[in-house]
Parts: sequence; structure tokens; C-alpha cells
Amino acid sequence: MTTLNSRVPEGPIKDKWTTYKENVNLVNPANKRNIDIIVVGTGLAGGSAAASLAELGYNVKAFAYQDSPRRAHSIAAQGGINAAKNYQNDGDSNYRLFYDTVKGGDYRSREANVFRLAEVSGAIIDQCVAQGVPFARDYGGLLDNRSFGGVLVSRTFYAKGQTGQQLLLGCYAAMNRQIARGKIEMFNRHEMLDVVKVDGKARGIIARDLVTGEIERHSAHAVVIATGGYGNVYFLSTNAMGSNATAAWKVHKKGAYFANPCMTQIHPTCIPRSGDYQSKLTLMSESLRNDGRIWVPAKIEDAKAIQEGKLKPTALAEEDRDYYLERRYPAYGNLVPRDVASRAAKERCDAGYGVNATGEAVYLDFAAAFERYGSEQAKIKGLENPSKEVIIELGQAIIEGKYGNLFQMYEKIIAENPYETPMMIYPATHYTMGGVWVDYNLMTTVPGLYCIGEANFSDHGANRLGASALMQGLADGYFVLPYTIGDYLADDIRTGAISTDSKEFDTAEKEIKEKLEFFINNEGTHSVDYYHKKLGLVMWNKVGMARNEKHLKEAIKEIQDIREDFWKNVKVPGDLNELNPELEKAGRVADFLELGELFAKDALERNESCGGHFREEYVTEDGEALRDDKNFAYVSAWEYTGKPSEAILHKEQLEFKDIELKTRSYK
Ligand SMILES: Cc1cc2nc3c(=O)[nH]c(=O)nc-3n(C[C@H](O)[C@H](O)[C@H](O)COP(=O)(O)OP(=O)(O)OC[C@H]3O[C@@H](n4cnc5c(N)ncnc54)[C@H](O)[C@@H]3O)c2cc1C
Repeated sequence: MTTLNSRVPEGPIKDKWTTYKENVNLVNPANKRNIDIIVVGTGLAGGSAAASLAELGYNVKAFAYQDSPRRAHSIAAQGGINAAKNYQNDGDSNYRLFYDTVKGGDYRSREANVFRLAEVSGAIIDQCVAQGVPFARDYGGLLDNRSFGGVLVSRTFYAKGQTGQQLLLGCYAAMNRQIARGKIEMFNRHEMLDVVKVDGKARGIIARDLVTGEIERHSAHAVVIATGGYGNVYFLSTNAMGSNATAAWKVHKKGAYFANPCMTQIHPTCIPRSGDYQSKLTLMSESLRNDGRIWVPAKIEDAKAIQEGKLKPTALAEEDRDYYLERRYPAYGNLVPRDVASRAAKERCDAGYGVNATGEAVYLDFAAAFERYGSEQAKIKGLENPSKEVIIELGQAIIEGKYGNLFQMYEKIIAENPYETPMMIYPATHYTMGGVWVDYNLMTTVPGLYCIGEANFSDHGANRLGASALMQGLADGYFVLPYTIGDYLADDIRTGAISTDSKEFDTAEKEIKEKLEFFINNEGTHSVDYYHKKLGLVMWNKVGMARNEKHLKEAIKEIQDIREDFWKNVKVPGDLNELNPELEKAGRVADFLELGELFAKDALERNESCGGHFREEYVTEDGEALRDDKNFAYVSAWEYTGKPSEAILHKEQLEFKDIELKTRSYK
């Protein structure tokens, strides 16, 4: 085991990034024209990086498996993006955003990175507004804000429930400008299947053209991985169906350490699972917790009657409802962080108070908000003694303006009108805080190989606060990587074009072709989804919201068994040289089957509870996560040595100089 060097600059935290930028090596404009950079992934992280690097003058080759960058999973982001602008004059500052994020992550993130993130957050909003992103505005025309979990200020900028879509369109426009100038060469429908190292440095990738099946070699002076998170290791998640870990896992196998794989976010407000044949879960944005109140029946007999369909939630009197988040966490109420809210929902449902047929749902109720907004509107409109119906109608119009598309989505999926009856929600896998380990420069343990956005282990520690992923992805792409990558590339100005005609490219290409041929030629009996579902079930039941030593050990063995069976009996229909989604899935599930094991191993090794990683053995008397700062205040970074079971643990010891390490409390 080695201790990792995070390359955090010296000096006070407030000066680190400024001093870094003032002293970093630069590449002159003429030399940038001779340098190629590969960016894999064009969601918000990769798209913003590709556009910014091309704007600087580098030659960028960008890759995405969808038919357009506009279809990246980032487009699904609903609720908003954080920035410490303090437009609400409610006491926000860079320090407060930094503090909230470190505390929200249960003190398992790197202080210097998080401070930098807070520092550049305001510039992201300016950049996006300049691109024309239509953020919501208040009646005076200024940008509006709302709150997300784990904070006491309103710092979330939003565009209805479609913030990711609008940000991605802005980013895509910036990319398109560079595509038109020839500075970005865009490879849509291309999947990176391996990274190629030459003399220890990342010098290219092997990609498959997903339409023709052709295997291609691409070289560059540096490679940036921006391929998103691995939540689909659970099979069911709120992620896009195609979201996968392949690029991150492949670079891990080529020497990039994988950090905190067990740190996953289970989001509390998702539409509950409806049956065994479901392949996707849907998020109801956390922004809804600004106005929705979460509750279950206070009496078990009422819960049973609701589960059996004999009682309607609207028939339950106020005193018969348990607003358990408001009861347990009076200071933050319904806006506690996601890990806390998810566990509290699970606790109530496990105790028998769930509100759907399976007992795995709680209510998210807007009735109080309809009345509150409606009364205010009635006053504004000068209505004297308005009836309750009028008040509710006025209130519903305000809620519709704020979250209309989410209500519509809910009604389409559940076939119940959430304006009339409370929504039902339950926790689901949503985001992965773990990922490829990077230093302060966002460089992995492989020289010249960078990782940004959700794909890296990121700035969120053991739990991400809502609306912070978009902030981090865009901070990485627009404002951090464009500086840090130059520092590395300054040594490459005399290297010249990298040839793809080398033994390193030959070997990587050969291995990929062999694996693809294996899938097509294996006369197996089970579909790829059969294995993916099996893996997902083990992950959810034994490596999910609550974990313990016994289950984790069982999970490791079960995943190994599923993997062995997969390589014997998987059946992949179709051909190599055609559009073959089953073949794409096979490669991705093969990687999930390895990552899943490392994930469980990491969870087993971390003998503490922190954030989204909840070990049942480490709990406070009142049921909260019990951290062990003495022994576990580190990032675990795993080195691949041939098998997940043989991965070697390296530690990045976390230092808390600007924030006092203390028990996280939202009471
Ligand atoms: C439903 C939902 C709602 C959310 N809402 C919010 C929100 O309101 N606020 C917030 O801050 N966060 C939110 N998040 C989280 C946030 O959306 C993501 O963390 C973020 O968008 C990830 O961006 P990214 O650029 O890192 O990756 P992605 O957007 O996932 O992009 C990945 C890119 O990599 C490409 N790719 C992947 N693998 C390969 C490969 N092997 N070869 C080539 N290309 C590849 C894809 O084609 C794509 O272009 C939400 C997440 C979900 C699931």
C-alpha cells in the first residue's frame, strides 16, 4: 500500500486555486494547434471540456455512444445547479457552499477540491446565462433560486424541472461552434473500449463504431474520460439505460486507481418499483421537497388499510399522519440530505408503515403548499374571503409553474393525479460518488489520463448534495481542466503527432476484437439482461441502502459466481459488424460484474458508516450513521492487479484544516 499524493497546492485554502493558476505552465497558442486531446463522453462534463479545450486552440476528438451529445444522460437532470451567488441575500458565500458540501459528504471529500468548486460555481452560472440557458427568473427578472437538501440557504438555479436539458443545450451550442470551426471532431455512436498507453502515458483509445462495428484507433497527447456514473451496476436505477462503467473500468484495468467504489447515492424521491419486469426507475426531483411534505400514517392499522386499498391518504386527519422527517430533523425537516432521507424512509417502511401494496413507499404531499401559495395569491389578487376551492386552485397553478413537468411525468407513470392525491415515492439508486481517482489536476494515476464529471471519485465524499453534480461536471469542464491539462501538455509541445501504428495499439485492438468475437460465437443460453438483473438483485439486497459484513461477504461470492456463469453461458445474438445493442450491453455488463465485486469489497473494508455507505454494525443510538474518523478518514483507491478480489488498497489520507471534523447533524 502506498499513500497517494493528491498534489494539492500549498498555502491557505482561499489562495490555492488562484496561486495555482498564476504559476501553472502554459502552452502557447501556436503550440496548442499541434496538440490533440481525446475527450470520451460529451455530457455536461465532457461537452464543456471539449468546447473549452477547442476554444483554447487544442485539436479535440470527442466521443459519445449516443447519436448526438444532446442525448447524454445529463439531459435528464431535473432540479437545478448550485452556485454561491447569494442572490437571495440569505447568507450564502463560497465558504458556506464549501462547508455544506464537505459536511453533506460526511467528511470524506478533499477540502481543497471542494473549495475550488465553490469558488468557480458563480462563474458557471454567468457562462451558462451568456450561452442563453433560460434559468427561471423571479418577477423582477433576476435569476430565481430554490433550496436543495442539506443546506439552509437558497442557492439552486433551475429551469423548471429540466435544468440538465437546458444546460446541455447551451453546452452543445458551444461544442457545435467548435465542430463547425473544425476544432472538435465529433465521433457520435462510438464506444471507447480501451485506453492505450505508450511509455506509461495515455496516448489514445480503441473505439468501436456502433453502426458499422468497425474497430478504430485514435491517438492523442492526452485522454479525458467523462463517461458518467455507474449506478446501473444495480440494474434498476434512475440513470439512463445506456449509462455504464466501461470506460472507467477499462482505464482502471490499465493502471488508474478506482476510488471509493462503495459510495453510492440512493435518492429518496423516486417513483416506487412496480414489478419484476421493470427495467428503469424514474426520479421525482429533490426540488419537490421544497414544497412537498413527506409522511406515512402514524398508526400501523391505517398503514395496513392503505396498503390493502381500503383507506385513502386524503381521508387521514393531520394528527394521524407522521411527518417523520420534520419530527426527527426539525432544523432541516423535509430538506435533510438524501442519505438521511432515504434511510428514514426505509426505516418507516421496514417497520410496516409503507403506503403501497408492497409496503415500499411513503407519501410526498403538496396539499399544504397548495393552501400556502393559494392564500398568498388570493391576497395578491385582492380576493376577499376566497373559498377553499379557489385557494387550492390558485396554489396548484403556482406548483404547476414550478414543477409542472414532474407532476405530468408522475401521472403518466402511476396513473394517479398528484394534484389530488399525494405522490408515492421510495429510494432508488441514483448517483455514484465513487469513481476513478484523480489528483487536484483531475489527472488519474496514469500520466496524461484525466477523468472529470460523475466518472471521477469527485468532490462529494460519501454523499452528494442535490444540484451539486451539474456544478461539479461544469466546473471540471469549463473552469478547471482547461488550466490543469495545460500544465501537463506544456511538456508535450515537441512530441509531434502520436502514431497509432505501434505494438501498444496492436495489442489493445487485438484483445478487444477477441472479446467481441467471443461474445458473438459463444453459444450460451441466457441473455445479457438475465445476468444484469441477477447482479442488480445482489447489489440491491446486500450492497444497497444498508450493508453488513455477512451480506457483503455473501455478495462477493455470489457476484463471482454470476460472473463465472456469464462467461460460460451468455448468449449474444446478431453480428459483429452491424448495429448490435446486445453486443454493446454484453461488454458493459461484463465490466459491471467486475466492478460490483470491487464495490462490495470496498464496502466490506470500510468498517464505519458514512453518508450513503451505511454499515448496520456502525450506528449511533438514535439510528444515525456512525463514522470512524480515527481509522477511516481516507479515500480508498484500488489498484487493479488481475482480479477484483486481488485489488490492492491505497489510501489518500484526508486532511481537515479548514473545517472541523464533527458528527453530522441535521437536527
Ligand atoms: C434523473 C436524474 C436527475 C438528475 N438531476 C440532477 C440535478 O437536478 N442536479 C444535479 O446537479 N445533478 C442531477 N443529476 C446528476 C447529474 O445529472 C449527473 O451526475 C451528470 O449529468 C453527469 O454528467 P457527466 O457529463 O459526468 O456524464 P453523462 O451525462 O452521463 O455523460 C456521459 C457521456 O459519456 C458517453 N459515454 C459513456 N461511456 C462511453 C464510452 N465507453 N465510449 C464513448 N462514450 C461514452 C456518453 O455517450 C455521454 O456522452 C441527476 C441524475 C439523474 C439520474
